[in-house]
Amino acid sequence: MALVSLINADRLWTRLMALAEIGATPAGGVNRQALSDGEIAAWRRVIAWAQEAGLTAATDAAGNLFLTLAGRDRSAPPLLVGSHLDSQPTGGKFDGAAGVMAALEAVVWFAEQDETPARDVIVIAWMNEEGCRFVPGMMGSEAFTGTRDIEAIRAVHDVSGISVGEALDRLHAVFPDLARKPLGFPAAAYLELHIEQGPLLEAADRVIGVVTGIQGKKTFQVVVGGAEGHAGTLPQQERRDALAAFARMAAALHAEIGAIDAEIKFTIGRVTIEPNAPSVVPSRVTFSIDLRHPDNGVLDAAGARVEALCHRHAPPCAVTITPLVDAPSNDFDSRLRERIAQAAHDQCLPAMAILSAAGHDARHLVKVCPAAMIFIPCRDGASHVEHEWADPGHVAAGASVLAQVLRDLALADQPFGAGA
Ligand SMILES: [Zn+2]
Repeated sequence: MALVSLINADRLWTRLMALAEIGATPAGGVNRQALSDGEIAAWRRVIAWAQEAGLTAATDAAGNLFLTLAGRDRSAPPLLVGSHLDSQPTGGKFDGAAGVMAALEAVVWFAEQDETPARDVIVIAWMNEEGCRFVPGMMGSEAFTGTRDIEAIRAVHDVSGISVGEALDRLHAVFPDLARKPLGFPAAAYLELHIEQGPLLEAADRVIGVVTGIQGKKTFQVVVGGAEGHAGTLPQQERRDALAAFARMAAALHAEIGAIDAEIKFTIGRVTIEPNAPSVVPSRVTFSIDLRHPDNGVLDAAGARVEALCHRHAPPCAVTITPLVDAPSNDFDSRLRERIAQAAHDQCLPAMAILSAAGHDARHLVKVCPAAMIFIPCRDGASHVEHEWADPGHVAAGASVLAQVLRDLALADQPFGAGA
């Protein structure tokens, strides 16, 4: 393991494990969904750690948590660094939490050096990244960046009928002393550390992933409408069998879209059949499509082709295709990527460029400021599972690289140099 000198690795690991006790599941995972009692308890603990180091806590209308180390020029756009504290219902200890705790450790370490940043540095925990209790996710970063209207976000309900608005009001009532920041404000840059959630770093024996960007994603809901009939009496040629039409569509989609190139990811992950009875011709099939590719041109063409193939293979049934998510791929800031690579090199940590296959809040931050991400390996590439695991040395290495990049940005009057 390379020497990690820029942070307190023991403190970081101890705090990360203490955080994992909040919402701990019997199988060693974490269930700490957005705006739940568990997330509120996590806020309490993280706020206490931050205040101990002289940081001030604040929130906003979208339930994002801000922990600020004051800089010399309080009016200059701050540096942002963070991730999320919410988890999947059977999530792990590291997804999101590792990024928030690495960010806090980097900033606390910075404060301990008695160096004053030129501008404020703010650790952020974004509200509802995971999108399981409230669908879809990334609500906090979407509200912050103006991607999605806060009133639309507040109107979303969980399965028990509680709205995001009610849950936010409760959060704010629990923390009445927190200052309220405006929803969205200018920022100098955004950095996020995250576990890779895939196998590439581990396979290549690298500790630091310099994330080049996040691949684009489109999702669709497709409804095939046929006609019910008696399985024994209705002549075959007169049938409008929705399942038969679905089978033709699925075969054509997998054969054509799934073979576009080596980078395409095409998934039909959910299918429902009505009436779903053994002796009834199916009248209706509803299915999901998840389509991803790093090249927006390829992704757009594939999306259009999905719709054309569905229409071609539907007859004699009807088909309606509803686009749900349309998130283009993004490139992270090249200057920040260079700094991350340089910091890894300076600290003798093996690094490689890597594309993020999963979505992150940083996808939205690129719209408002230079942004970049640091990946660290996770065992077997497993994430969104209770046995999700990251090596303590890798967590410390990632946090140390984060600390170096953050410190360099924070000490400069102009983070990217004069004229930038
Ligand atoms: Zn995450």
